[in-house]
Amino acid sequence: MRGRTTPSGTTPAVWANWAGNQRTSGEARRPSTVDEVVDTVRAARTAARRLKPVGSGHSFTDIARADDQWLDLAALTGRIHVDTERRLVTVPAGMALHTLNDLLAEHGLALANLGDIDVQTVAGAISTGTHGTGAGYGCLSTFVTGLTLVTGTGELLTCSEEVEPEIFAAARVGLGALGVIVEVTLRCVDAFVLRAEERPAPLAATLADLPALIAGNDHFEFYWFPYTDRVQVKINNRVPTDDRPLPRFRGWLDDEFLANSVFAGACRLGRAAPALVPTIHAVSARALTARTYTARSDRVFCTPRRVRFEEMEYALPRAALPEALAGLRRVVDNLPTRVLFPVEVRFTAPDDIWLSHGYGRESAYIAVHQYVGVPAEPYFRAFEQVATALGGRPHWGKLHYRDAESLAPAYPRFADFLAVRDRLDPDRVFANSYTERVLGR
Ligand SMILES: Cc1cc2nc3c(=O)[nH]c(=O)nc-3n(C[C@H](O)[C@H](O)[C@H](O)COP(=O)(O)OP(=O)(O)OC[C@H]3O[C@@H](n4cnc5c(N)ncnc54)[C@H](O)[C@@H]3O)c2cc1C
Repeated sequence: MRGRTTPSGTTPAVWANWAGNQRTSGEARRPSTVDEVVDTVRAARTAARRLKPVGSGHSFTDIARADDQWLDLAALTGRIHVDTERRLVTVPAGMALHTLNDLLAEHGLALANLGDIDVQTVAGAISTGTHGTGAGYGCLSTFVTGLTLVTGTGELLTCSEEVEPEIFAAARVGLGALGVIVEVTLRCVDAFVLRAEERPAPLAATLADLPALIAGNDHFEFYWFPYTDRVQVKINNRVPTDDRPLPRFRGWLDDEFLANSVFAGACRLGRAAPALVPTIHAVSARALTARTYTARSDRVFCTPRRVRFEEMEYALPRAALPEALAGLRRVVDNLPTRVLFPVEVRFTAPDDIWLSHGYGRESAYIAVHQYVGVPAEPYFRAFEQVATALGGRPHWGKLHYRDAESLAPAYPRFADFLAVRDRLDPDRVFANSYTERVLGR
Protein backbone atom coordinates (compact mmCIF):
# COMPACT_ATOMS: atom_id res chain seq x y z
CA MET A 1 0.00 0.00 0.00
CA ARG A 2 1.30 3.47 -0.90
CA GLY A 3 0.07 7.00 -0.38
CA ARG A 4 0.36 10.47 1.18
CA THR A 5 -1.95 11.71 3.94
CA THR A 6 -4.20 14.65 3.05
CA PRO A 7 -5.44 17.32 5.52
CA SER A 8 -8.75 15.40 5.82
CA GLY A 9 -6.87 12.36 7.20
CA THR A 10 -7.42 10.13 4.18
CA THR A 11 -4.61 8.79 2.06
CA PRO A 12 -5.07 8.35 -1.71
CA ALA A 13 -3.49 4.97 -2.21
CA VAL A 14 -3.11 1.85 -4.26
CA TRP A 15 -3.78 -1.52 -2.66
CA ALA A 16 -2.87 -4.97 -3.94
CA ASN A 17 -2.92 -8.35 -2.27
CA TRP A 18 0.08 -10.69 -1.93
CA ALA A 19 -0.79 -12.73 -5.01
CA GLY A 20 -1.29 -9.57 -7.10
CA ASN A 21 -4.66 -10.78 -8.43
CA GLN A 22 -6.69 -8.21 -6.44
CA ARG A 23 -6.01 -4.49 -6.61
CA THR A 24 -7.83 -1.24 -6.09
CA SER A 25 -7.18 2.44 -5.69
CA GLY A 26 -9.09 4.68 -3.36
CA GLU A 27 -8.63 6.16 0.07
CA ALA A 28 -6.84 4.56 2.99
CA ARG A 29 -7.46 5.36 6.65
CA ARG A 30 -4.81 4.49 9.18
CA PRO A 31 -6.20 4.99 12.69
CA SER A 32 -3.83 4.65 15.62
CA THR A 33 -6.45 4.60 18.39
CA VAL A 34 -9.77 2.88 18.94
CA ASP A 35 -11.45 6.32 19.20
CA GLU A 36 -10.20 7.11 15.71
CA VAL A 37 -11.66 3.82 14.46
CA VAL A 38 -15.04 4.72 16.02
CA ASP A 39 -14.93 8.22 14.45
CA THR A 40 -14.00 6.81 11.05
CA VAL A 41 -16.84 4.24 11.09
CA ARG A 42 -19.39 6.83 12.20
CA ALA A 43 -18.25 9.28 9.51
CA ALA A 44 -18.48 6.58 6.83
CA ARG A 45 -21.99 5.63 7.94
CA THR A 46 -23.16 9.24 8.01
CA ALA A 47 -21.78 9.83 4.53
CA ALA A 48 -23.27 6.52 3.27
CA ARG A 49 -19.78 5.35 2.33
CA ARG A 50 -18.21 1.93 2.57
CA LEU A 51 -15.20 1.07 4.70
CA LYS A 52 -13.25 -2.18 4.52
CA PRO A 53 -10.88 -3.25 7.30
CA VAL A 54 -7.79 -4.87 5.78
CA GLY A 55 -5.06 -7.05 7.24
CA SER A 56 -1.83 -7.89 5.46
CA GLY A 57 -3.52 -8.65 2.13
CA HIS A 58 -2.83 -12.37 2.10
CA SER A 59 -6.27 -13.43 0.92
CA PHE A 60 -6.56 -14.51 -2.70
CA THR A 61 -10.24 -13.59 -2.95
CA ASP A 62 -11.53 -10.01 -3.11
CA ILE A 63 -12.66 -10.40 0.52
CA ALA A 64 -10.35 -7.56 1.62
CA ARG A 65 -10.67 -5.43 -1.52
CA ALA A 66 -12.39 -2.15 -0.74
CA ASP A 67 -14.96 -0.73 -3.13
CA ASP A 68 -14.48 2.68 -1.49
CA GLN A 69 -12.26 3.39 1.53
CA TRP A 70 -10.16 0.90 3.45
CA LEU A 71 -8.99 0.80 7.02
CA ASP A 72 -5.42 -0.31 7.63
CA LEU A 73 -5.00 -1.26 11.28
CA ALA A 74 -1.25 -1.89 11.29
CA ALA A 75 -0.64 1.28 13.33
CA LEU A 76 -3.47 0.68 15.80
CA THR A 77 -2.05 0.78 19.28
CA GLY A 78 -3.75 -0.77 22.27
CA ARG A 79 -3.49 -3.05 25.21
CA ILE A 80 -0.89 -5.82 25.09
CA HIS A 81 -1.44 -8.10 28.01
CA VAL A 82 0.05 -11.52 28.62
CA ASP A 83 -1.48 -13.53 31.46
CA THR A 84 1.05 -16.33 31.84
CA GLU A 85 -0.88 -18.01 34.64
CA ARG A 86 -4.12 -18.38 32.63
CA ARG A 87 -2.23 -18.62 29.33
CA LEU A 88 -4.19 -15.80 27.73
CA VAL A 89 -2.86 -13.01 25.52
CA THR A 90 -4.68 -9.80 24.52
CA VAL A 91 -3.34 -7.83 21.54
CA PRO A 92 -4.39 -5.11 19.08
CA ALA A 93 -6.13 -6.80 16.15
CA GLY A 94 -3.69 -5.55 13.52
CA MET A 95 -0.69 -7.27 15.10
CA ALA A 96 1.11 -9.64 12.72
CA LEU A 97 1.18 -13.29 13.73
CA HIS A 98 5.01 -13.39 13.72
CA THR A 99 5.07 -10.47 16.18
CA LEU A 100 2.57 -12.31 18.35
CA ASN A 101 4.64 -15.53 18.17
CA ASP A 102 7.77 -13.69 19.32
CA LEU A 103 5.84 -11.96 22.11
CA LEU A 104 4.48 -15.29 23.33
CA ALA A 105 7.91 -16.95 23.15
CA GLU A 106 9.31 -14.23 25.44
CA HIS A 107 6.70 -15.29 28.01
CA GLY A 108 7.18 -19.05 27.59
CA LEU A 109 3.93 -19.40 25.63
CA ALA A 110 2.84 -20.24 22.08
CA LEU A 111 -0.23 -20.70 19.90
CA ALA A 112 -1.17 -24.38 19.84
CA ASN A 113 -1.25 -24.49 16.04
CA LEU A 114 -0.51 -22.28 13.04
CA GLY A 115 -0.90 -22.31 9.26
CA ASP A 116 1.91 -22.29 6.70
CA ILE A 117 2.86 -18.62 7.09
CA ASP A 118 3.00 -16.06 9.90
CA VAL A 119 2.64 -12.72 8.13
CA GLN A 120 -1.14 -12.36 8.41
CA THR A 121 -2.63 -10.07 11.03
CA VAL A 122 -4.46 -11.61 13.97
CA ALA A 123 -7.81 -10.16 12.85
CA GLY A 124 -7.24 -11.01 9.19
CA ALA A 125 -6.29 -14.61 9.97
CA ILE A 126 -9.29 -15.31 12.18
CA SER A 127 -11.76 -13.50 9.92
CA THR A 128 -11.36 -16.07 7.11
CA GLY A 129 -10.97 -19.19 9.28
CA THR A 130 -7.21 -19.59 8.72
CA HIS A 131 -6.10 -23.04 9.86
CA GLY A 132 -3.16 -25.38 10.08
CA THR A 133 -3.29 -29.16 10.35
CA GLY A 134 -3.89 -31.55 13.25
CA ALA A 135 -6.87 -33.71 14.13
CA GLY A 136 -6.96 -32.26 17.64
CA TYR A 137 -7.01 -28.61 16.53
CA GLY A 138 -9.62 -26.35 14.99
CA CYS A 139 -8.80 -23.23 12.99
CA LEU A 140 -7.01 -20.29 14.67
CA SER A 141 -10.37 -18.69 15.50
CA THR A 142 -11.00 -21.51 17.98
CA PHE A 143 -8.20 -20.08 20.14
CA VAL A 144 -10.08 -16.77 20.51
CA THR A 145 -11.69 -16.34 23.93
CA GLY A 146 -12.89 -12.78 23.44
CA LEU A 147 -12.81 -9.92 20.99
CA THR A 148 -13.79 -6.28 20.77
CA LEU A 149 -15.14 -4.73 17.61
CA VAL A 150 -16.51 -1.44 16.38
CA THR A 151 -19.88 -2.18 14.80
CA GLY A 152 -21.34 -0.56 11.69
CA THR A 153 -23.23 1.88 13.91
CA GLY A 154 -19.99 2.93 15.58
CA GLU A 155 -20.52 1.11 18.87
CA LEU A 156 -17.71 -0.59 20.75
CA LEU A 157 -18.80 -4.13 21.57
CA THR A 158 -16.98 -6.90 23.42
CA CYS A 159 -18.04 -10.53 23.08
CA SER A 160 -17.02 -13.90 24.49
CA GLU A 161 -18.56 -17.28 25.32
CA GLU A 162 -20.40 -15.56 28.23
CA VAL A 163 -21.05 -12.05 26.89
CA GLU A 164 -23.01 -11.74 23.62
CA PRO A 165 -22.40 -15.43 22.78
CA GLU A 166 -24.28 -15.19 19.45
CA ILE A 167 -22.03 -12.38 18.26
CA PHE A 168 -19.03 -14.36 19.50
CA ALA A 169 -20.15 -17.40 17.46
CA ALA A 170 -20.41 -15.21 14.37
CA ALA A 171 -17.53 -12.75 14.75
CA ARG A 172 -14.70 -15.24 15.25
CA VAL A 173 -14.97 -15.98 11.51
CA GLY A 174 -16.72 -12.78 10.50
CA LEU A 175 -15.41 -12.22 6.92
CA GLY A 176 -14.77 -8.56 7.82
CA ALA A 177 -18.54 -8.07 7.49
CA LEU A 178 -19.62 -7.50 11.09
CA GLY A 179 -17.35 -4.75 12.34
CA VAL A 180 -13.78 -3.59 12.79
CA ILE A 181 -12.08 -5.91 15.25
CA VAL A 182 -9.77 -3.80 17.41
CA GLU A 183 -8.67 -6.23 20.11
CA VAL A 184 -8.44 -10.01 20.38
CA THR A 185 -7.79 -12.31 23.34
CA LEU A 186 -6.40 -15.74 22.52
CA ARG A 187 -5.87 -18.90 24.52
CA CYS A 188 -2.26 -20.07 24.37
CA VAL A 189 -0.31 -23.11 25.52
CA ASP A 190 3.09 -23.49 27.14
CA ALA A 191 5.88 -22.96 24.61
CA PHE A 192 6.76 -26.23 22.91
CA VAL A 193 9.27 -27.81 20.59
CA LEU A 194 8.22 -29.74 17.50
CA ARG A 195 10.02 -32.61 15.85
CA ALA A 196 9.39 -32.37 12.13
CA GLU A 197 9.59 -35.48 9.99
CA GLU A 198 9.29 -35.16 6.24
CA ARG A 199 9.50 -38.09 3.83
CA PRO A 200 8.34 -39.20 0.40
CA ALA A 201 5.72 -41.97 0.27
CA PRO A 202 3.31 -43.65 -2.17
CA LEU A 203 -0.15 -42.02 -2.30
CA ALA A 204 -2.03 -45.35 -1.99
CA ALA A 205 -0.14 -46.41 1.14
CA THR A 206 -0.66 -42.98 2.69
CA LEU A 207 -4.41 -43.13 2.07
CA ALA A 208 -4.57 -46.70 3.43
CA ASP A 209 -2.80 -45.59 6.64
CA LEU A 210 -4.70 -42.33 6.93
CA PRO A 211 -6.67 -42.95 10.15
CA ALA A 212 -3.52 -44.02 12.00
CA LEU A 213 -1.42 -41.19 10.56
CA ILE A 214 -4.02 -38.59 11.54
CA ALA A 215 -4.76 -39.99 14.99
CA GLY A 216 -1.18 -40.98 15.82
CA ASN A 217 0.46 -37.60 15.21
CA ASP A 218 -0.12 -34.10 16.54
CA HIS A 219 0.04 -32.52 13.08
CA PHE A 220 -0.11 -34.60 9.92
CA GLU A 221 -0.36 -33.43 6.30
CA PHE A 222 0.81 -34.45 2.85
CA TYR A 223 1.48 -32.98 -0.58
CA TRP A 224 0.41 -34.95 -3.65
CA PHE A 225 2.43 -34.46 -6.83
CA PRO A 226 -0.03 -34.31 -9.77
CA TYR A 227 0.57 -36.83 -12.60
CA THR A 228 2.30 -39.16 -10.09
CA ASP A 229 1.35 -41.64 -7.37
CA ARG A 230 3.75 -40.01 -4.92
CA VAL A 231 3.31 -37.73 -1.94
CA GLN A 232 5.57 -35.91 0.49
CA VAL A 233 4.41 -36.54 4.05
CA LYS A 234 4.93 -33.90 6.78
CA ILE A 235 4.53 -34.90 10.41
CA ASN A 236 5.06 -32.61 13.40
CA ASN A 237 4.99 -33.94 16.95
CA ARG A 238 5.62 -32.29 20.31
CA VAL A 239 8.91 -33.39 21.96
CA PRO A 240 10.52 -32.36 25.26
CA THR A 241 13.85 -31.09 23.91
CA ASP A 242 15.17 -29.17 20.95
CA ASP A 243 17.99 -31.65 20.37
CA ARG A 244 18.04 -31.94 16.59
CA PRO A 245 18.23 -28.44 15.10
CA LEU A 246 18.56 -28.22 11.35
CA PRO A 247 22.10 -27.15 10.41
CA ARG A 248 21.92 -23.56 9.15
CA PHE A 249 23.01 -24.52 5.64
CA ARG A 250 20.52 -27.43 5.39
CA GLY A 251 17.72 -25.14 6.59
CA TRP A 252 18.61 -22.59 3.93
CA LEU A 253 19.03 -25.30 1.29
CA ASP A 254 15.61 -26.86 2.00
CA ASP A 255 13.46 -23.86 2.89
CA GLU A 256 14.95 -21.09 0.80
CA PHE A 257 16.83 -22.69 -2.06
CA LEU A 258 14.75 -25.81 -2.81
CA ALA A 259 11.33 -24.65 -1.55
CA ASN A 260 11.59 -21.19 -3.08
CA SER A 261 14.45 -20.66 -5.59
CA VAL A 262 14.61 -24.07 -7.29
CA PHE A 263 10.84 -24.42 -7.09
CA ALA A 264 10.44 -21.02 -8.79
CA GLY A 265 12.78 -22.22 -11.56
CA ALA A 266 10.80 -25.44 -11.98
CA CYS A 267 7.55 -23.45 -12.17
CA ARG A 268 8.99 -21.08 -14.81
CA LEU A 269 10.22 -24.06 -16.82
CA GLY A 270 6.83 -25.78 -16.55
CA ARG A 271 5.00 -22.60 -17.58
CA ALA A 272 7.22 -22.21 -20.66
CA ALA A 273 7.17 -25.93 -21.57
CA PRO A 274 3.94 -27.49 -20.24
CA ALA A 275 4.75 -30.90 -21.74
CA LEU A 276 7.57 -31.19 -19.21
CA VAL A 277 5.30 -30.72 -16.17
CA PRO A 278 4.60 -34.42 -15.44
CA THR A 279 8.36 -35.11 -15.59
CA ILE A 280 9.07 -32.15 -13.31
CA HIS A 281 6.60 -33.54 -10.76
CA ALA A 282 8.02 -37.06 -11.05
CA VAL A 283 11.56 -35.75 -10.52
CA SER A 284 10.46 -33.47 -7.63
CA ALA A 285 8.63 -36.32 -5.90
CA ARG A 286 11.77 -38.47 -6.08
CA ALA A 287 14.26 -35.67 -5.38
CA LEU A 288 12.70 -34.64 -2.08
CA THR A 289 14.54 -36.59 0.56
CA ALA A 290 13.57 -37.41 4.11
CA ARG A 291 14.60 -35.06 6.90
CA THR A 292 13.98 -34.85 10.62
CA TYR A 293 14.69 -31.84 12.81
CA THR A 294 13.48 -30.04 15.92
CA ALA A 295 12.73 -26.35 16.47
CA ARG A 296 10.49 -23.85 18.25
CA SER A 297 6.90 -24.63 17.26
CA ASP A 298 6.15 -21.55 15.13
CA ARG A 299 9.43 -21.98 13.23
CA VAL A 300 8.37 -25.48 12.22
CA PHE A 301 4.77 -24.60 11.37
CA CYS A 302 5.56 -21.52 9.26
CA THR A 303 7.90 -21.09 6.31
CA PRO A 304 8.58 -18.15 3.98
CA ARG A 305 6.64 -18.33 0.68
CA ARG A 306 8.30 -16.35 -2.09
CA VAL A 307 6.97 -18.15 -5.17
CA ARG A 308 3.74 -16.34 -6.07
CA PHE A 309 0.66 -18.41 -6.82
CA GLU A 310 -3.13 -18.42 -6.74
CA GLU A 311 -4.95 -20.86 -4.52
CA MET A 312 -8.33 -22.47 -3.84
CA GLU A 313 -8.91 -24.63 -0.77
CA TYR A 314 -11.91 -26.77 0.13
CA ALA A 315 -12.81 -28.22 3.52
CA LEU A 316 -14.56 -31.57 3.11
CA PRO A 317 -16.17 -34.03 5.49
CA ARG A 318 -13.13 -36.16 6.30
CA ALA A 319 -14.64 -39.41 5.01
CA ALA A 320 -14.99 -37.84 1.53
CA LEU A 321 -11.24 -37.34 1.08
CA PRO A 322 -10.47 -40.43 -1.07
CA GLU A 323 -13.37 -39.66 -3.41
CA ALA A 324 -12.38 -36.00 -3.60
CA LEU A 325 -8.78 -36.91 -4.48
CA ALA A 326 -9.94 -39.38 -7.12
CA GLY A 327 -12.15 -36.63 -8.60
CA LEU A 328 -9.26 -34.18 -8.46
CA ARG A 329 -7.01 -36.62 -10.30
CA ARG A 330 -9.60 -36.86 -13.11
CA VAL A 331 -9.81 -33.06 -13.23
CA VAL A 332 -6.03 -32.70 -13.42
CA ASP A 333 -5.69 -35.35 -16.15
CA ASN A 334 -8.33 -33.72 -18.33
CA LEU A 335 -7.26 -30.08 -18.05
CA PRO A 336 -5.95 -28.28 -21.14
CA THR A 337 -3.29 -26.62 -18.94
CA ARG A 338 -0.75 -28.36 -16.71
CA VAL A 339 -0.85 -28.12 -12.92
CA LEU A 340 2.50 -26.84 -11.69
CA PHE A 341 1.95 -26.99 -7.93
CA PRO A 342 1.66 -29.97 -5.57
CA VAL A 343 -1.74 -30.36 -3.85
CA GLU A 344 -1.74 -29.84 -0.06
CA VAL A 345 -3.96 -32.03 2.17
CA ARG A 346 -4.58 -31.14 5.83
CA PHE A 347 -6.89 -32.13 8.68
CA THR A 348 -8.73 -30.23 11.43
CA ALA A 349 -11.06 -30.86 14.38
CA PRO A 350 -14.73 -29.82 14.44
CA ASP A 351 -15.70 -26.47 15.98
CA ASP A 352 -18.81 -24.42 16.82
CA ILE A 353 -18.08 -21.17 14.92
CA TRP A 354 -20.95 -20.49 12.54
CA LEU A 355 -19.02 -19.72 9.34
CA SER A 356 -15.94 -21.77 10.15
CA HIS A 357 -15.19 -24.33 7.44
CA GLY A 358 -14.87 -26.84 10.26
CA TYR A 359 -18.29 -26.09 11.80
CA GLY A 360 -19.68 -29.30 13.30
CA ARG A 361 -17.49 -31.81 11.50
CA GLU A 362 -14.02 -33.37 11.19
CA SER A 363 -12.48 -31.90 8.07
CA ALA A 364 -9.97 -32.79 5.41
CA TYR A 365 -8.75 -29.76 3.47
CA ILE A 366 -7.59 -30.00 -0.13
CA ALA A 367 -5.68 -26.97 -1.41
CA VAL A 368 -5.03 -26.55 -5.13
CA HIS A 369 -2.62 -23.96 -6.48
CA GLN A 370 -1.54 -22.55 -9.80
CA TYR A 371 1.64 -20.61 -10.60
CA VAL A 372 1.14 -16.93 -11.49
CA GLY A 373 0.71 -16.43 -15.20
CA VAL A 374 -0.88 -19.85 -15.79
CA PRO A 375 -4.69 -19.78 -16.02
CA ALA A 376 -6.10 -21.05 -12.73
CA GLU A 377 -9.83 -20.64 -13.23
CA PRO A 378 -10.64 -23.73 -15.36
CA TYR A 379 -8.73 -25.91 -12.87
CA PHE A 380 -10.31 -24.33 -9.81
CA ARG A 381 -13.84 -24.36 -11.25
CA ALA A 382 -13.56 -28.03 -12.21
CA PHE A 383 -12.33 -29.02 -8.75
CA GLU A 384 -14.97 -26.83 -7.13
CA GLN A 385 -17.67 -28.96 -8.81
CA VAL A 386 -16.15 -32.11 -7.31
CA ALA A 387 -15.81 -30.54 -3.85
CA THR A 388 -19.27 -28.96 -3.83
CA ALA A 389 -20.92 -32.28 -4.69
CA LEU A 390 -19.17 -33.81 -1.67
CA GLY A 391 -20.41 -31.14 0.75
CA GLY A 392 -17.25 -29.02 0.56
CA ARG A 393 -16.93 -25.54 2.03
CA PRO A 394 -14.53 -23.11 0.34
CA HIS A 395 -11.89 -21.25 2.35
CA TRP A 396 -13.15 -17.66 2.57
CA GLY A 397 -9.73 -16.20 1.82
CA LYS A 398 -8.96 -18.45 -1.16
CA LEU A 399 -10.40 -18.31 -4.65
CA HIS A 400 -13.83 -19.82 -5.19
CA TYR A 401 -16.93 -19.11 -7.26
CA ARG A 402 -19.79 -19.87 -4.84
CA ASP A 403 -22.54 -17.38 -3.96
CA ALA A 404 -24.88 -16.96 -0.98
CA GLU A 405 -27.51 -19.24 -2.45
CA SER A 406 -25.08 -22.10 -2.90
CA LEU A 407 -23.25 -21.52 0.40
CA ALA A 408 -26.29 -21.29 2.68
CA PRO A 409 -27.02 -25.06 2.68
CA ALA A 410 -23.37 -25.81 3.50
CA TYR A 411 -23.54 -23.85 6.77
CA PRO A 412 -26.34 -24.80 9.20
CA ARG A 413 -26.11 -21.41 10.98
CA PHE A 414 -25.84 -19.26 7.82
CA ALA A 415 -29.17 -17.50 8.46
CA ASP A 416 -28.15 -16.78 12.06
CA PHE A 417 -24.95 -15.19 10.82
CA LEU A 418 -26.96 -12.96 8.47
CA ALA A 419 -29.20 -11.93 11.38
CA VAL A 420 -26.15 -10.89 13.44
CA ARG A 421 -24.90 -8.94 10.41
CA ASP A 422 -28.24 -7.14 10.11
CA ARG A 423 -27.96 -6.18 13.76
CA LEU A 424 -24.30 -5.07 13.72
CA ASP A 425 -24.08 -3.50 10.28
CA PRO A 426 -27.60 -2.53 9.18
CA ASP A 427 -26.33 0.03 6.64
CA ARG A 428 -23.66 -2.28 5.19
CA VAL A 429 -20.75 0.03 5.95
CA PHE A 430 -18.44 -3.03 5.74
CA ALA A 431 -19.86 -4.49 2.53
CA ASN A 432 -17.88 -5.00 -0.66
CA SER A 433 -18.42 -6.98 -3.83
CA TYR A 434 -17.25 -10.16 -2.10
CA THR A 435 -19.67 -9.93 0.83
CA GLU A 436 -22.47 -9.13 -1.63
CA ARG A 437 -21.68 -12.33 -3.50
CA VAL A 438 -21.22 -14.71 -0.56
CA LEU A 439 -23.67 -13.18 1.95
CA GLY A 440 -26.08 -11.30 -0.29
CA ARG A 441 -27.18 -7.73 0.32
C1 LIG B 1 1.35 -17.60 0.92
C2 LIG B 1 0.06 -17.82 1.66
C3 LIG B 1 -0.06 -18.87 2.56
C4 LIG B 1 -1.26 -19.08 3.25
N1 LIG B 1 -1.33 -20.13 4.11
C5 LIG B 1 -2.51 -20.40 4.73
C6 LIG B 1 -2.65 -21.52 5.59
O1 LIG B 1 -1.70 -22.25 5.85
N2 LIG B 1 -3.87 -21.75 6.14
C7 LIG B 1 -4.95 -20.96 5.86
O2 LIG B 1 -6.05 -21.26 6.35
N3 LIG B 1 -4.83 -19.87 5.09
C8 LIG B 1 -3.65 -19.57 4.52
N4 LIG B 1 -3.54 -18.46 3.72
C9 LIG B 1 -4.70 -17.55 3.63
C10 LIG B 1 -4.63 -16.45 4.70
O3 LIG B 1 -4.29 -16.97 5.96
C11 LIG B 1 -5.99 -15.77 4.85
O4 LIG B 1 -6.46 -15.32 3.62
C12 LIG B 1 -5.96 -14.62 5.87
O5 LIG B 1 -7.27 -14.15 6.03
C13 LIG B 1 -5.07 -13.47 5.47
O6 LIG B 1 -4.91 -12.59 6.56
P1 LIG B 1 -4.57 -11.05 6.32
O7 LIG B 1 -4.10 -10.44 7.59
O8 LIG B 1 -3.69 -10.91 5.14
O9 LIG B 1 -6.04 -10.48 6.02
P2 LIG B 1 -6.64 -9.86 4.67
O10 LIG B 1 -6.48 -10.82 3.58
O11 LIG B 1 -6.10 -8.48 4.47
O12 LIG B 1 -8.19 -9.76 5.09
C14 LIG B 1 -8.92 -10.94 5.27
C15 LIG B 1 -10.28 -10.60 5.88
O13 LIG B 1 -10.09 -10.12 7.21
C16 LIG B 1 -10.83 -8.92 7.37
N5 LIG B 1 -10.14 -8.11 8.36
C17 LIG B 1 -8.84 -7.78 8.42
N6 LIG B 1 -8.60 -7.04 9.51
C18 LIG B 1 -9.80 -6.88 10.14
C19 LIG B 1 -10.22 -6.23 11.33
N7 LIG B 1 -9.37 -5.58 12.12
N8 LIG B 1 -11.53 -6.30 11.67
C20 LIG B 1 -12.42 -6.99 10.92
N9 LIG B 1 -12.06 -7.63 9.79
C21 LIG B 1 -10.78 -7.58 9.42
C22 LIG B 1 -10.84 -8.28 5.99
O14 LIG B 1 -11.89 -7.34 5.85
C23 LIG B 1 -11.06 -9.52 5.15
O15 LIG B 1 -12.42 -9.84 5.20
C24 LIG B 1 -2.36 -18.21 3.04
C25 LIG B 1 -2.23 -17.13 2.15
C26 LIG B 1 -1.05 -16.94 1.47
C27 LIG B 1 -0.92 -15.78 0.51
